[in-house]
Amino acid sequence: MVGLKLPLLLVLLHAVFGSAYRWFNWQFEVTCESDAYIAPEDESAAASFLRDQYARGSLIKVVGNGHGFGNLTTCVDTARTKKPSYIVSLTNLKHLDINREDMTVTFGAGWDVYDLIQELKANGLSFNNLGVEQVQNFIGAVSTGTHGTGSLVGNMATQVVGLRVLDSQGSLRVIDQTTNAEELKAFRISLGALGLITEMTIKVHPTYLVKKTTRVLNATTDYAQMYKEIAQLYKEHDRMTVWGPHFDWDSKAQDWAIEPTYFASWWEPTNYTGVRNCTLNYCANGCGDCKKNYICYDEVSDAVSCGPEGVCTHQFYAEIEHFFPAEYLLEAATNYTLFQQSQTPRMKAPYNEQMVFQFRMLKGDDAYLSPVNTYNLGPESSGVFAVLEIDWMQEYNNFTTLWQNQELAEEFLPRFGEAYNVRSHWNKMSPANSTYILEKFPKLPEFLAIQERQDPKCQFVNDFLVQQLGITRCSDYLSM
Ligand SMILES: Cc1cc2nc3c(=O)[nH]c(=O)nc-3n(C[C@H](O)[C@H](O)[C@H](O)COP(=O)(O)OP(=O)(O)OC[C@H]3O[C@@H](n4cnc5c(N)ncnc54)[C@H](O)[C@@H]3O)c2cc1C
Repeated sequence: MVGLKLPLLLVLLHAVFGSAYRWFNWQFEVTCESDAYIAPEDESAAASFLRDQYARGSLIKVVGNGHGFGNLTTCVDTARTKKPSYIVSLTNLKHLDINREDMTVTFGAGWDVYDLIQELKANGLSFNNLGVEQVQNFIGAVSTGTHGTGSLVGNMATQVVGLRVLDSQGSLRVIDQTTNAEELKAFRISLGALGLITEMTIKVHPTYLVKKTTRVLNATTDYAQMYKEIAQLYKEHDRMTVWGPHFDWDSKAQDWAIEPTYFASWWEPTNYTGVRNCTLNYCANGCGDCKKNYICYDEVSDAVSCGPEGVCTHQFYAEIEHFFPAEYLLEAATNYTLFQQSQTPRMKAPYNEQMVFQFRMLKGDDAYLSPVNTYNLGPESSGVFAVLEIDWMQEYNNFTTLWQNQELAEEFLPRFGEAYNVRSHWNKMSPANSTYILEKFPKLPEFLAIQERQDPKCQFVNDFLVQQLGITRCSDYLSM
């Protein structure tokens, strides 16, 4: 009897008081209180939810898997607003259709990257523009411009050829590269600000294998020399990630000590047909010993990216990821490193463990909000961007240390933004303001015009978007 009464009571309580839902990102440091977590069964349920909420002006934050470092997925906290505030996930939208004639795959917003990759592989197809991990929701990853490495490889969003999106009134728009190619440039990287993308169509290739070579390299505190060697390696390998230099925290000296070696991996086409073995070595994500020379072969997505089983590092970490024209690589890398060293005496919080620099290359593109958009580049530019990431890893999940490291990390953009035409990853602590963003993203006004059309009442907007994109028409609405 008791067993029956309790669920009934919970249903009644839910009906009377609603069901608050607290949202967290992957490392639990980005959080907000919403009124409920909504996961519509299909596109038409999502549309009718939006239609209902439009009348109420409810605040709606559509999320993927929360695998970011910034406030893109932070809902407007219920303590701040009288309007309902919801987290919406389209995880139930799991349809999929392969078109072999034009080599595209159309799929619902519920597909995570890993699952989609497995499905593609089972059908002899590959997607080769992935980031280092496969744990994101596919549309969540595309919507922030997630990328891997390669001067001839674009970010994930460059492979999008069409999509279906619901605006705040629940009306459906179909955008594709044949009927509205210009508008697709706004929707490819939309930061959740242009509506709920319910379905996406991407280009794919017949499955192919690549050879991955990893080499251990010697580090030196003559940074100009070390980065000269790295810049030279990039001339030899167009698809390469450099993991390093690495520094370890010396708690006695209260300083970073450079590790004597670091490593680089590069990928190239191969006609190899033997055992596929890159997934046996996931070291790049903190699993095991990475600093060793090795060669492996695998299907391209498994060779360039790690499935969830290959993600081992889960301690708190702060991170910046900055994109700048590749021509600046040597100078920018040296100055970023020296600037970091000038910050070290202020790193007083405990539990620092390791600091890792990482370098990648990325082909520029024309999505309005792409961090590697080429709109403000001069004719002398190659159109290729260097990507510099710095990770500050902790030995223990301590908020004081995390916040101190984040504060210091935010000093890099004001310091180098103008000098090197820097743009930040949208989901990795992007501390710019809208004046700066307008300079680096000249198509921002066009994006904002579409944003207003898709969301006239500001229901898809949060504080982060207001501040970063300068959506001033929405600033009051959020706290009303
Ligand atoms: C450990 C780690 C490693 C990473 N490595 C890389 C890397 O190698 N390269 C790289 O570029 N990035 C990397 N990232 C960043 C990550 O790929 C991006 O932050 C990505 O956007 C996260 O995807 P998600 O599904 O978790 O999306 P979320 O963070 O949940 O959402 C991202 C954005 O997508 C929007 N969105 C989600 N679903 C929809 C939808 N259906 N319709 C409309 N908008 C939607 C959200 O509103 C939000 O604006 C890494 C992040 C972490 C934590």
